[in-house]
Amino acid sequence: MHQVDVAIVGGGPAGSSAAKAAADGDADALVIEKGVPRSDRDHLGPDSTDAAGMLDYWVDIMDYEPEEIPEDIILSDLEGAYFGGPSESATVKNTQIESSWDGFGFAFQRARFDDWLREEAEAAGASYEVGTNVTDVESTRDGRSYTHRLTLADGEEIEADALVLADGPQRTVTLNAVDQFMPSGRSISSLLGPKTANHIAYQEHRKIPEELFDPELLKFWWGVIPGHTAYPWIFPNDDNVARVGLTMPIGMDLDAVANRDAYTLLQPDDEQIPPGRVYIRRLLEWLYPDYDLEDFPLVEDRGKQKGTEAYPISSTQPIESPTQANVAVVGGAMGATSAFHEGGDHVAVRTGKIAGRLAASGDMQRYNPEWKDAIGDEIIRNVSLAERARDMGPADWDEVFRTVRRMVEFEGTRGRQAFRAGWSGMSLLGRYLWTRRKFRKHGYVQLRESEYAL
Ligand SMILES: Cc1cc2nc3c(=O)[nH]c(=O)nc-3n(C[C@H](O)[C@H](O)[C@H](O)COP(=O)(O)OP(=O)(O)OC[C@H]3O[C@@H](n4cnc5c(N)ncnc54)[C@H](O)[C@@H]3O)c2cc1C
Repeated sequence: MHQVDVAIVGGGPAGSSAAKAAADGDADALVIEKGVPRSDRDHLGPDSTDAAGMLDYWVDIMDYEPEEIPEDIILSDLEGAYFGGPSESATVKNTQIESSWDGFGFAFQRARFDDWLREEAEAAGASYEVGTNVTDVESTRDGRSYTHRLTLADGEEIEADALVLADGPQRTVTLNAVDQFMPSGRSISSLLGPKTANHIAYQEHRKIPEELFDPELLKFWWGVIPGHTAYPWIFPNDDNVARVGLTMPIGMDLDAVANRDAYTLLQPDDEQIPPGRVYIRRLLEWLYPDYDLEDFPLVEDRGKQKGTEAYPISSTQPIESPTQANVAVVGGAMGATSAFHEGGDHVAVRTGKIAGRLAASGDMQRYNPEWKDAIGDEIIRNVSLAERARDMGPADWDEVFRTVRRMVEFEGTRGRQAFRAGWSGMSLLGRYLWTRRKFRKHGYVQLRESEYAL
């Protein structure tokens, strides 16, 4: 039996950040990562979604100084974000949120980012076992303390005082591990089950013709495909390659879509929601009618497999962790990722850092209040925007972008004024501020620690 102070399930941004922080605190920290092959990495590593944009203020949320971000992970500096509706659009050039990063943000190479976080953790003294799954966790109580026994797919057993669950949005380990602390008759699956608490995302790495490639803008189109917080995007990488992708709820029923003719990327003879690759083809045809799909060739040595990748992404609200059992759930596993704009690496890194530090110092009960202090504002913003978007259809999105565009133009001509048209410009519209009120005082938490049977 291998014994450690802190066992960490999953070696993505959350897990590696937890490992570094725990090792920095002199704990014996072990990351178990199942290990995923990728076209853009020559060794097994974490399941690195290669969709990676970092906004300026996210660097602060990660609790990194700008100069600590290695240059070789950055693919391009971003100058703004373009939001398209069926027929309106707006481009915002600042997030309007105070930050120490100079610029709108950057696009980065996710596999390199994950490798960097792992190198940092190993340099601090953490260990990794890559290439084997955690299949089971059994937690036993002895007086006031708990011991966690992890079983790996290769039969190895590991015993740990503290457990950090960083297995991402599929929560292959988290669901059963946390269920041990749920009151009888309740399961965490009703809140974090992967089919209901996640969206599916699909993307293709495509070479974009020189004259169309825009390396400085993230581009999103809202109200062109049906579904709550469902949208296609084009994210620039380097070398005229962009990730063309989309996110949408899992298992949508086309018959349940109201006003389906209004969605640009649906066609009258669709019998079901089109698969991601069809949506992407239609997006490119719609945006660039003078070009053929062959003008945007797949870049097969990138991404997970032959230039394409499909991933779940958490699209729910976070839970508190059963910290009395010395367990922290972090990053995508805890439901911290935004349903609205997909951003999640920053909250994964930060929650991991907090959990690892507290696990090492034996102070895990501080975890829930500390992560809320660190990322609470960001979660409120994200869940409020997602809520605001819930019933919006194509015409509503056009109205939003028309208004934001006017606000941006107005700002350009009149200087400072009451409307601020940055990343949160959309927040000024409609019911956003009212919605925010609902999530104040940690109203965004789906499950409180007091609800566990501890
Ligand atoms: C298409 C897409 C686009 C995105 N775009 C952005 C973006 O632009 N910016 C941004 O900030 N975020 C983005 N995100 C979100 C971001 O990828 C996630 O929030 C982030 O990866 C969460 O980090 P994590 O460490 O919590 O989980 P993950 O990165 O999912 O890591 C979990 C790890 O656990 C491992 N694992 C799972 N089960 C087991 C097991 N049983 N045993 C051992 N290991 C296991 C997995 O292999 C994986 O490596 C995007 C996500 C998607 C899907």
